[in-house]
Amino acid sequence: MRTVAKRVLVTGGAGFLGSHLCERLLARGDDVLCVDNYFTGRKDNIAHLLHQPNFEPMRHDITFPLYVEVDEIYNLACPASPIHYQFDPVQTTKTSVIGAINMLGLAKRVKAKILQASTSEVYGDPIVHPQDESYRGNVNPIGPRACYDEGKRCAETLFFDYHRQHKVKIRVVRIFNTYGPRMHPNDGRVVSNFIVQALKNEPITLYGDGSQTRAFCYVDDLIDGFVRMMDASDETVGPINLGNPVETSVAELAKIIIDLTGSRSTITYRPLPVDDPVQRCPDISQAESVLGWQPRMPLRTGLQRTIAYFETLLREHGAIPAPKTAAA
Ligand code: NAD
Ligand code: UDP
Ligand code: UDP
Repeated sequence: MRTVAKRVLVTGGAGFLGSHLCERLLARGDDVLCVDNYFTGRKDNIAHLLHQPNFEPMRHDITFPLYVEVDEIYNLACPASPIHYQFDPVQTTKTSVIGAINMLGLAKRVKAKILQASTSEVYGDPIVHPQDESYRGNVNPIGPRACYDEGKRCAETLFFDYHRQHKVKIRVVRIFNTYGPRMHPNDGRVVSNFIVQALKNEPITLYGDGSQTRAFCYVDDLIDGFVRMMDASDETVGPINLGNPVETSVAELAKIIIDLTGSRSTITYRPLPVDDPVQRCPDISQAESVLGWQPRMPLRTGLQRTIAYFETLLREHGAIPAPKTAAA
């Protein structure tokens, strides 16, 4: 435990990644202010933290100014799954851009360090593979993913301009697909979709022919990367890729999940969404050399933990029958 608690603001703290981050910061003795408008976040994600005296939840939309006193800010607020960020695309861009301006204005006023949760989507549908941080991307600025991709790109611009112009202490990490317990069961992301479908023995929805690739990082590994980045020297501004460099096709992921769940699900093919990136895999040499970070969790083990989470969730909601032994 630290002797003097840092006051840390986590925006999007009731979301999937945010709730794990709050947990990690509390465990090391920080004072955590969790700000969320509950668009995609859930109170259930942070219910287990409410009894902790160092934890304070606050309902707030970061597109509005926020006046608080903190030492560090992790800016995670933004819907992350395509169906959620495309639901109200204008609000998505506002959250990334106006939200970044407000959080950077706050960081400037109170002289806090601020970390931006950027994304591999800044590389768009990449023509360089694997993607390193010098690659400038291939983003369609007017397509259905643009509200997210361009919003995040503009947020990076704002971070670097506040850094150059106002000497704000920034950190920018570009997160690649991350999965784990507390993903939203209905957010349409591939890992949660496939696991829920497999557990219900429903058809697995493979978009396109399933040959498109992603690289899947377990949430605990990613949170470790966040904290290392924030704790790094002020010269370490990034952007730095955080992700698991083991590339897996979506069809292969479906097979692994069917195998791990012992499911009777079959595969059903659906059209590939517009602008869906064909290949994605991080080059993490910078994270390795600068932060001494690399992911540790093997995909199958991480998926087993995630499956266990969804099993409990579905059983509590009565959507899948409890095993006979459990009912006895
Ligand atoms: P999530 O949807 O679970 O979490 C986002 C949180 O932000 C939610 O709790 C939501 O209610 C909150 N939020 C949204 N708009 C807000 C606003 N205007 N004001 C306040 N709160 C708001 O998604 P996640 O996977 O936890 O993603 C967290 C961050 O990481 C996002 O910024 C996302 O872009 C980034 N990211 C995630 C991944 C991933 O694979 N999970 C990959 C790349 C980047
Ligand atoms: N801001 C905030 N909290 C603060 C300080 C600023 O939310 O503690 C917001 C404020 O609404 C402002 C934005 O951050 O519009 C950008 O602040 P900055 O100081 O860069 O710009 P200015 O106030 O000059 O517009
Ligand atoms: N995908 C799929 N079936 C689903 C959900 C997603 O085949 O039910 C595919 C999707 O087309 C994409 C990949 O899985 O190629 C990852 O999708 P996700 O939405 O999880 O993340 P992102 O596209 O933002 O990386």
